[in-house]
Amino acid sequence: MTDRYALIGMPLGHTKSPLIHGEFARQTGQDLTYEAIEAPADGFATAVDRFRAAGGRGINVTLPFKIEAFAYATELLERARLAGAVNCMKFDGDRAIAENFDGLGLVNDIQLNLGCAMRGGRVLLLGAGGAARGALLPFLEQEPEALVVMNRTVPKARALGAQFSAYGNLTTGGYSDFGERRFDIVVNATSASLRGELPPVPRAVFAEGCLAYDLVYGKGLTPFLRLARDAGAGRIADGIGMLVEQAAEAFAWWRGVRPATQPLIERLSVPLT
Ligand code: NDP
Repeated sequence: MTDRYALIGMPLGHTKSPLIHGEFARQTGQDLTYEAIEAPADGFATAVDRFRAAGGRGINVTLPFKIEAFAYATELLERARLAGAVNCMKFDGDRAIAENFDGLGLVNDIQLNLGCAMRGGRVLLLGAGGAARGALLPFLEQEPEALVVMNRTVPKARALGAQFSAYGNLTTGGYSDFGERRFDIVVNATSASLRGELPPVPRAVFAEGCLAYDLVYGKGLTPFLRLARDAGAGRIADGIGMLVEQAAEAFAWWRGVRPATQPLIERLSVPLT
């Protein structure tokens, strides 16, 4: 029997998730469909209930519903609980089990695809929104020498520090709080690149040869990536690998089989020029 999966969000006009999961299913020989379901702002629970009643086995969740999905879940696994947001669920009878694979997808892309070990490294995370929050536990689990979070609205960064400092060496603050400190991995988890803006990150943060990573994808050379390249970054990357890797984690969790990610990342990448 064909199993049904879906992405729920709004709007979903340009989503790549059905293509990604369709390709994973073809590659692994899994009998499933994956559709995109748009729901009105107040319609998340209704849309999920309807999908489950029709036999849906699991969903991915994207903006603006990651918090609603947190409330909907009957069981929150640790990454989702700490992130305060859910991007993946599986359904088993009355159970709605919730995960968040965004941060793990990011870690996998950085370490496995881009070849940058986080263990013992100096890591800087820009932003304190949902994506940054989701990245903190997976980042700290890699045991970096130091993890620094900078955010424009400093109390939001400090709140993350209070919540996550028990999990590793975490320091938080504003963009001008860290003097001349340099980092081996600099991750832009702000949404600034969506609007062609540059977060006020000091040029000095980029250690010679570092990796600079922008979570936004499909935008080519963003102002952040341009600054990093000009400041001496050895490698720049956008978030397409993270998108494919979190999808692969979801697929493996649902189906028990891990798809290859590299062919899709290559197919979906745009030049960073
Ligand atoms: P949120 O809206 O939750 O957070 C936005 C963050 O960006 C806040 O920290 C905000 O700072 C900061 N910010 C926005 N504009 C600026 C600016 N001009 N200068 C400095 N800081 C700025 O968004 P998310 O955390 O959910 O998403 C962040 C980005 O990550 C999005 O662009 C999203 O597309 C991308 N993303 C990519 C994924 C992938 O698979 N590649 C997965 C998930 C997200 P403040 O708190 O001060 O307002």
